[in-house]
Amino acid sequence: MNGTNKIHHLTEASQANQQHGFALKMMELLVIPTFVVDIDGKVIIWNLACERLTGVPAWEMLGTSDHWKSFYHEQRPTLADLVLQGRSGELQLHYQRHARRGDTEHKLCAENWCDMPRVGRRRYLAADASPIFDNDGKLVAVVETLRDVTDEKSAQVALEQLATRDGLTGLANRRCFDDTLQAEWQRALRQRQPLSLLMVDVDNFKQYNDAYGHLGGDQCLQRIAGAVSSEMRANDLVARYGGEEFAVILPNQSLKGAAIVAERIRCRVERLHLPNLGSKQHVVTVSIGAATALAAPDTDPSQLVATADSALYRAKHMGRNRISLPGTDGG
Ligand code: GH3
Ligand code: MG
Ligand code: MG
Repeated sequence: MNGTNKIHHLTEASQANQQHGFALKMMELLVIPTFVVDIDGKVIIWNLACERLTGVPAWEMLGTSDHWKSFYHEQRPTLADLVLQGRSGELQLHYQRHARRGDTEHKLCAENWCDMPRVGRRRYLAADASPIFDNDGKLVAVVETLRDVTDEKSAQVALEQLATRDGLTGLANRRCFDDTLQAEWQRALRQRQPLSLLMVDVDNFKQYNDAYGHLGGDQCLQRIAGAVSSEMRANDLVARYGGEEFAVILPNQSLKGAAIVAERIRCRVERLHLPNLGSKQHVVTVSIGAATALAAPDTDPSQLVATADSALYRAKHMGRNRISLPGTDGG
């Protein structure tokens, strides 16, 4: 290498160094929480915003593979790790919402509740992870940027609650019941399984209100809602169908099974021993109508509701505080 060439080369090298330093500084000051892991999964950049978000200083993190500890109590991969290790197939396992970003399948974005052990409060984070390739196209690092979207997520959850929950009892509301019944009907059809429904109506509730006032009546409905819910399995849905009426969807349950659940609910409410002088037993009781259907193509679940309703009507007619099944008790 002659003298001029050497100088030229040195200038290029120092220019590259300068650019590298400039890029590092920029990354450092970026208001977006950002970290970078190298090909060995070790943290090589942990910027100020990332320190602020996680409460973990860069000096503690740099050169380690402990970045997961800043976000979670239990060891698990971060989005950057999934990109680095080519494990995008596991996105679903680790994240609530996720997507591959259009332009390349190596870029991932995902959202999740994070424990944030160091700051001590859960945050809902949106993460983007992109691979960094060298001039030869070799993967050398992965950059992950984060956004704290806890407020947006909380607002969304609250809105969903408002739209699907009954304000007094916290149970599913009528709209949620209608949607769930439709969905379960379709599922029962696909899986060729029975679908059962219970209609639960509080007996002589008008007298209860007359005796204890509307507020007392409201509290009574809350207690009953709790009693009914406590008899449910994970896939069952209990909803407030109307005033003092509840509906229970029991997927993949035969009429016999539904009758057992109904009887358990009836007993449970009776055992609350809420006084109601308007009823024969002098305590608050419920009547329950049950129905079961095998979904058929081109049908909807309205017949199931109607059948459970008529069974409920018969239970009332036969004296209340009882369960009734279609076609088995003289109806
Ligand atoms: P039955 O045994 O035939 O069901 O008699 P019932 O008195 O329970 O039935 P009825 O339909 O005559 O009266 C229902 C009562 O439930 C009347 C209504 O004021 C009361 N109710 C409906 N929704 C609420 C509510 O949200 N809170 C309170 N406190 N009362 C309610
Ligand atoms: Mg009633
Ligand atoms: Mg009623």
